[in-house]
Amino acid sequence: MASSIKEIPLVIIGTGPAGYTASIYASRYKLQHILIGNTIGGQVSKAHIIENYPGFIQIKGFELSTKFKEHAEHFLPMSNSEFIFDTVISVEHKDNQFITKTQQGSVIKSKALIFTVGVKKRELGLVSEKKFLGKGVSHCVTCDGFFYRDKIVGIVGGGDSAATGALYLADISPKVYMFVRRDKMRAEPIWQEQIFKNPKIEVLFNTEVAEIYGDQKVQGVITKDGRKIELEGLFIEIGHYPDTSILKFDVEKDEHGYIKVKPDMSTSVPGFFAAGDITTANNKFHQIVVATGEGAVAANSAYMYVVRGG
Ligand SMILES: Cc1cc2nc3c(=O)[nH]c(=O)nc-3n(C[C@H](O)[C@H](O)[C@H](O)COP(=O)(O)OP(=O)(O)OC[C@H]3O[C@@H](n4cnc5c(N)ncnc54)[C@H](O)[C@@H]3O)c2cc1C
Repeated sequence: MASSIKEIPLVIIGTGPAGYTASIYASRYKLQHILIGNTIGGQVSKAHIIENYPGFIQIKGFELSTKFKEHAEHFLPMSNSEFIFDTVISVEHKDNQFITKTQQGSVIKSKALIFTVGVKKRELGLVSEKKFLGKGVSHCVTCDGFFYRDKIVGIVGGGDSAATGALYLADISPKVYMFVRRDKMRAEPIWQEQIFKNPKIEVLFNTEVAEIYGDQKVQGVITKDGRKIELEGLFIEIGHYPDTSILKFDVEKDEHGYIKVKPDMSTSVPGFFAAGDITTANNKFHQIVVATGEGAVAANSAYMYVVRGG
């Protein structure tokens, strides 16, 4: 594939809420940029229904992500900017420039870069998990729990997300199974105490989900030791992880690998800004409204960085 080399003030990687918002703001600052992403809307497009993004009482995830895309694309010409649908394979930092390379052969040099690649959810790795995603299987209790009110549900995991998720689900569901791989939970003792006191939650230790079954929607799970448990919703809360492997230079991160940012979304590397789920700014509260806010701040800071000459 032929490679083209471009030089531009700013590159934005990621087309989730943080990246699109950063692009909207950059365009309106007339800051020429290239926005690169390999999905339309990032994780938002995977959300069935969203009810907590201001301005929309209820909107389908796909619809909101399309609106983000349209909004960003509307302003791109204002700054003579462009969108590239592609996967970034590496970002180098040399002589105060960022060199972004993509799968399809683009090479882009930029003075500033906004990194908004989100996080990756850990998965069970079952074929049935993919098959029933959005049809009974969810990776987000905060987002989708409400849709399973009054239904028997299960949650996989033994950490804080799973524990708090189980407690929330028990408020709205008649029965919550908690599938914990080990003989104990990793969740904070205070959550464990509440879980063991809650008559609606049944914790199944030493239990792994081997299969999720159903017709059009989830009807239950089969555990590795052969038990069949009927339920209508299964939440996978076994954690997520930040993937910064495409960055070929050092940037300061916390102990979990999230990029450390200052209030202006700058990082330990001058000209390199980060926003959204990948940063330490959000107290691990991974939500659309938070990511869009960070994207706006990052664009403002990148603009200041570029116009002030670094
Ligand atoms: C099922 C589900 C339901 C949810 N429901 C809600 C909800 O109801 N309300 C709410 O507020 N939040 C919800 N969330 C969380 C919310 O979607 C995230 O917090 C938000 O999308 C984070 O935005 P982001 O821009 O940081 O990252 P992301 O949305 O993850 O976007 C990252 C972008 O970077 C791109 N990218 C990554 N690597 C590369 C690469 N190498 N090259 C090119 N592009 C790359 C991705 O393709 C994607 O476009 C939900 C999440 C999920 C998974």
